[in-house]
Amino acid sequence: MDIPTYEIYAIKYAGPLIRPGCMVNWFQDVDKNVHVNYYIFALRGGGETILVDAGMDPKLGKERNLTAFVNPAEALKRIDIVAEKVKHVVITHIHVDHIGGIKLFPRATIYLQEKEFNFWIKNPIAQRAPFLQVTDPAANRYVGTLEGKKRLHLVRGDKKILPGIEVLLAPGHTIGHQAVAVNTAKGTAIVGSDLAHTFSSYRTDIPSAIITDMVAWMKSFDKVRAKVSSPDLLFPGHDPALLDNYPMVAEDVSRLV
Ligand SMILES: [Zn+2]
Repeated sequence: MDIPTYEIYAIKYAGPLIRPGCMVNWFQDVDKNVHVNYYIFALRGGGETILVDAGMDPKLGKERNLTAFVNPAEALKRIDIVAEKVKHVVITHIHVDHIGGIKLFPRATIYLQEKEFNFWIKNPIAQRAPFLQVTDPAANRYVGTLEGKKRLHLVRGDKKILPGIEVLLAPGHTIGHQAVAVNTAKGTAIVGSDLAHTFSSYRTDIPSAIITDMVAWMKSFDKVRAKVSSPDLLFPGHDPALLDNYPMVAEDVSRLV
């Protein structure tokens, strides 16, 4: 059977948001502000659409008054993706901007690392202040109710989830963060999500400051660099360049590959 090739889209649902530079690049640019965007990524090929991440809960996004926030489901419509019909959602990690919109996809199979699930849903440490402020307790409770259901795939390590799509355990930013390796016309691309917030991290070896385990993070950097077909096919999670430097296919939607 032929392995399908996929196109990769970045769909912005909020931003540009202003962040202190040292939050995006560990101990760098302490007196500088930088811009970040919030994205969902879509993989399209072989007759399938797979989302990487679920965006933020629409109500929460409005409450927080995020710059140019749109309901992630509305943003997806710009390339004819109907949220209620989406069949596959890979959640890279359980932070508010990546899992908060999960209820928008009631029919989707959800792919999460078991380690990530066990930490955020079961470990009391996840209820402590540093963790609480980066997650969405309501979304987490919802995901908790899916345990044992067919819809929730808890993955242990690297796994091919569909032909041409493999999730890669890539911890550091969180305990069970995962990246997604995708077969494309240009070779293996990797949607790294928050393994790096911006492209510069992969060049400089300096990750963001939102960290659970720096050593694990470095090893995850090495792992994805070894796996990707070329460095320009390794995509970060929040870089405005994801939108600005690639062909625009709809409002605030770019095609990366
Ligand atoms: Zn993020």
